[in-house]
Amino acid sequence: MSRVCVFCRREGQKLTLEHVYPDWLSGLFNKSLKGINEVSRDDLHRVWQGKLFQHKVKLVCGDCNNGWMSTLESGVKDLLTSLAFTHDGHALTEEGQRKISLWVQKTALIDNKALGGAFEIPASFYEELYAAKQPLQNIMVSMGWRMLANGSKAQPLASFEIKQVGSVQAEKSSADVLKSQVDSGALIWTAILALGNVVFHIVGTNINGHLEVGSSDPRMFAQINPYHTDLSWPSEWPIESIGGLEAVRKAI
Ligand SMILES: [Zn+2]
Repeated sequence: MSRVCVFCRREGQKLTLEHVYPDWLSGLFNKSLKGINEVSRDDLHRVWQGKLFQHKVKLVCGDCNNGWMSTLESGVKDLLTSLAFTHDGHALTEEGQRKISLWVQKTALIDNKALGGAFEIPASFYEELYAAKQPLQNIMVSMGWRMLANGSKAQPLASFEIKQVGSVQAEKSSADVLKSQVDSGALIWTAILALGNVVFHIVGTNINGHLEVGSSDPRMFAQINPYHTDLSWPSEWPIESIGGLEAVRKAI
């Protein structure tokens, strides 16, 4: 069976099994180790026990999976492993931030498709990411950290939550323009992607123009995309200072 690849949009390609979380993550753990997997969104909350990081979906073609996506994974693996599974300090330069941001954006797009349900990130984001193979300016990424990620139900090693933002604040001067864009399908979505000790806050939009998207506390979440400055990692406060993963998800 062949379908259209979600990234390159080519038809007639045999789609390959892509790990929702990269296979090298499971290599860090005992392969038979079971853990709690969790995904949630407005209309669905699913928690299941299974082999860690072995959830796979058929969404992308072999050329994408074994080409640019594989290059992306191998380029970010060492840094992401250290961020997610140690509490080591890092100087996050522009290059490091760009690698992580692209990985986070790609993973959020895959996670959203992998889960099924009511909210779907529009196809344009996939097409733009594929065309650019660079972090998209219209998907903001910031990162924070948590002290506790032990694989329990309350502290899953990996979790993903996404929702569409219901109301949009705009400056008065651009309100009419904004309204017409929203009427023709423009939207904002926000997601939390947690992987081990690192927690990403992601906000995507296909609305043009200046927007006030509720930003998170910079003492906890450091913005890495769009890049603005080199960072000394970790940030000042862990997310436990406002109540941990559950509280962060409620706040988005
Ligand atoms: Zn493809």
